[in-house]
Amino acid sequence: MPSAKVALVRAKTYEAAELRAALERAFSFLGGLEKFVPRGSRVFVKVNLLPPPSPPERGIITHPTFTEAVLSLLKDLTPHIVVGDDVHEARSFEVGGYRPMCQRLGVELVNLRERGFAEVSLEGGALKKVYIANAVREADVVVNLPKLKTHALTTFTGAIKNLYGVIPTGQRTALHGEHPQPADFARVLVDIFSAVKPALTVMDGIVAMEGAGPANGTPRPLGLILAGPDAVAVDAVAQAVIGLDPLRVWTTYHAHQRGLGTGDLNKIEVLGESLESVRVKDFRLPPAAGELMGRVPAPLTRWATRHLQAQPVVVPRRCVGCGACVRACPTGAAQFRGKKAWIDRTTCIRCMCCHEACRYGAIDLHVDLLGRFFRAAERWVYRDRRH
Ligand code: SF4
Ligand code: SF4
Repeated sequence: MPSAKVALVRAKTYEAAELRAALERAFSFLGGLEKFVPRGSRVFVKVNLLPPPSPPERGIITHPTFTEAVLSLLKDLTPHIVVGDDVHEARSFEVGGYRPMCQRLGVELVNLRERGFAEVSLEGGALKKVYIANAVREADVVVNLPKLKTHALTTFTGAIKNLYGVIPTGQRTALHGEHPQPADFARVLVDIFSAVKPALTVMDGIVAMEGAGPANGTPRPLGLILAGPDAVAVDAVAQAVIGLDPLRVWTTYHAHQRGLGTGDLNKIEVLGESLESVRVKDFRLPPAAGELMGRVPAPLTRWATRHLQAQPVVVPRRCVGCGACVRACPTGAAQFRGKKAWIDRTTCIRCMCCHEACRYGAIDLHVDLLGRFFRAAERWVYRDRRH
């Protein structure tokens, strides 16, 4: 008996009329938008802008036209809408196309750090407390608009991972340092997700990202929108689309185990397109074997980290010396040598923050021969066999 519903609809492009029609179709499968967003409620819309600034065509951020289409439907229900993310530079809103879009619609756009954060207690996970953005806490309803992408540390980033952006940047960096193993870090992500509890998730899978995401992969048109009140189920269906077994992805696994949603495809009703009709058999996943990490015995953790997790390496000819990787690094391993970045392997914990922060493709991910062998074996063992 299915316990979650996910709408799966096609939208080939970011053309406004096509998007609006596709979203209306998705929401009608779920019983209508008003079922999740009561009229007159205060809504916070969490987009994925992933600092530093990125133009929408790179496939890194939730596309502004996608957000605009969701906002135009929300505006039929309530005037109290705030859109935002936590960004280092206000320029992210211009470069990403969000400032002009929100001005056009008359919707408030906030950088979360400008409204501050407040402590929230947590139970049952890795963290006892966390700081959540006031703009999020003050809303009656949170609508989550993630981008469908790969992630070099967590394998996949979507609904659960998008909410990592509602905590302060300093705490984000520190938590990477304190929880470097992918399985452990996923528990942190699930903790933050549990504190936010979005009422509705609408995922931008029109142009996804494959390969070395979330910022240095390759845009991959999928032409899909996924929506549902259960963010864990939305992630699970998206993962199945790109060839992952959802319960082998740590974020989905932990959220499912904690009863925060369902990651079991057998318990998810997919409405609209059938999962079989949209599966992508050649979707490129990140080069590391993150799902295996956390399944190796504790005494082998260091060995496994060296061989199963990718090692970031700076490519000097592409490095422009912007310093984004140095600022993002939680351990100080990313440093400057002259005008170029350099990574100290002895203090690098392979958290991938530098790789995520670089917008110049100047940080490659290296996996040794043994790691590549485990990667291939992992893909064979853990692939979703319903293909
Ligand atoms: S590696 Fe990338 S992020 Fe780091 S300084 Fe060079 S260009 Fe900037
Ligand atoms: S160098 Fe990169 S991967 Fe290594 S600890 Fe710093 S940010 Fe993380």
